[in-house]
Formats: sequence, structure tokens, C-alpha cells
Amino acid sequence: MTAELVIEGLRAEVEGREILRGVDLTVRAGEVHAVMGPNGAGKSTLSHVLMGRPGYRVTGGTVTLDGVDLLALPTWERARAGLFLVMQYPTEVPGVSLLDSLTAALDGTGRDVSELPALMAAEAERIGFDERFLDRPLNVDLSGGEKKRNETLQLGVLAPRFAVLDELDSGLDVDALRACARRVEAATEEGLGVLCITHYTRVLHELHADRVHILVRGEIRDSGGPELADRLEEDGYAAWLRPEDEVASGPRPVDVFGSTTMADLDPTPEDPFGPGPFAAD
Ligand code: ADP
Ligand code: MG
Repeated sequence: MTAELVIEGLRAEVEGREILRGVDLTVRAGEVHAVMGPNGAGKSTLSHVLMGRPGYRVTGGTVTLDGVDLLALPTWERARAGLFLVMQYPTEVPGVSLLDSLTAALDGTGRDVSELPALMAAEAERIGFDERFLDRPLNVDLSGGEKKRNETLQLGVLAPRFAVLDELDSGLDVDALRACARRVEAATEEGLGVLCITHYTRVLHELHADRVHILVRGEIRDSGGPELADRLEEDGYAAWLRPEDEVASGPRPVDVFGSTTMADLDPTPEDPFGPGPFAAD
């Protein structure tokens, strides 16, 4: 049986407000699915709900990884089941090095950690990540691009079965983006399934996305091949918006509906946890 991550009818709320309103998505081993959508659509919420971040309440639906009910598991067990998240804004963890963190993660899956430093060095080289960053406390004082490379390095070392990439491309310069995307793509050739949240088609071309889904106000409004992303880049989201979206979105400061072309979209969309220390990156 092919490994698959199956999301069915997923509904979730944050602070009593429904953000995901019935999301259906199936990602099979080796496939790359893109999720694109205006700011505030619920893309990051989807990633947090999949990983089990506190504060996000699932009100309906299921998520399974090879039939295992992920929603019933704590975050660390979801990771152990093979799910990995590249966060839009990777968390800084003073006092914990990347080596500590990866040692614990590998230990937790019963894998051998003796080769870890060599493996980390090899992965760092693969994505052009300076080895001197490896000794830093996790993500502390790294630039936005360095944090994303740090995440990609972890993905390379941990070799998860499914990865959610929440704006892997934000903060990365073109060379770093290519290096990271190629690393992820190589992993897909070995069976990694990817859910790639992005505003831009570049990363989708690099990753050879199989499917593109348009998420608006917590629901998938359209799905198609890579040509959907090209259409979106040309014409913006107008074709997928409904009049009620504006009303429902309330008086939020992010002007989703005035931005109808990709170029108008803020590359660092509003995030409930703040823009992070690399907003100017
Ligand atoms: P996207 O990633 O598509 O830009 P998000 O999933 O970050 O959107 O946010 C969707 C909506 O949910 C926004 O209105 C956002 O403010 C809200 N939201 C997400 N997480 C939280 C949170 N922890 N607390 C309060 N509101 C949140
Ligand atoms: Mg987001």
C-alpha cells in the first residue's frame, strides 16, 4: 500500500472562531501538493492543526497517516509517525542546540545517533548552510533564510514520510531556495510526500508540484495541476473569491480582497505570533 496522508472534512477553530471549514486533501508518498491562498485563509492554521499546536481546536474531520489517527496523538508522536513541519516562523529555542534537538528526535525513533554530526555536516553542505551555525542555539540570531535552511537540514536528517512546508520560500534568496527545494525534491524521489504552502510558483516549479489547491477562508475552492498556480500568478485570487468572504473576514487589517495579483500579496503575511525577528529579511 502506498503511504498516504489523508485529511478529511477537517474543521478547526482558534479562540472560538472557525478558521478551517472542512478541508479535504490526500497526499501520497512521493507527491508534492501545493496549498495557495490569500493571507489569513488558514494555511498556517492547517499546518499547526496537522502538527497539533496548542490553541487550535479541531471541531470536525479526521487526519490519518497510513490509517493512524494523527489527531489522537500528541505532537511528538505525530513526528514519530513521520510528519514534519517547516514552520513559517521557526521558533527560537535558546539553550538547545540543533545537535541536541536532532539527537533527541532520532533517539525517539530508535535510530542510531553516532553518525549524526557527520550526517549534519553532509546535509549542511548539500544546502550551502555554513557549519558554524550548527553549534548555535536553535534558530537563535539566525536570519530568516538561515532558519529555513536550518529547517531543511532537519528534514534531510530526520527523513520524515510527510512534510508540511509553510512558506519554505519566504526569506530565502534564489540560490538558497534552489538548494533547499532540490534537497526536498531529492527526498520526494525517495518517497517523501509534501504539502507545500506558498504564495509563489517558483518553489513549485523547483519541486515539480503534482497538484495545486486554492484555499480561501478555510476551504479548498479549487484543485488542479501546476497550471492553476500559473493562472493564479497571472490573475490573482479574484476568480476564487465570493462576496461573503469579505464580510466574513471582518475588519482585519490585511487587505486580501484588494490584492488580486500575486505581486500585490505581502510576502510576509500577517501571522498571529507576530512577524518574528526577521521581518526585514
Ligand atoms: P494564512 O497562513 O493563510 O495567512 P493563518 O492560518 O495564519 O492564515 O490565519 C488564519 C486566521 O486565523 C487569521 O485570521 C488569523 O488571525 C487567525 N489565527 C490563526 N492563529 C491564531 C491564533 N493563534 N490566535 C488568534 N488568531 C489566530
Ligand atoms: Mg501563514
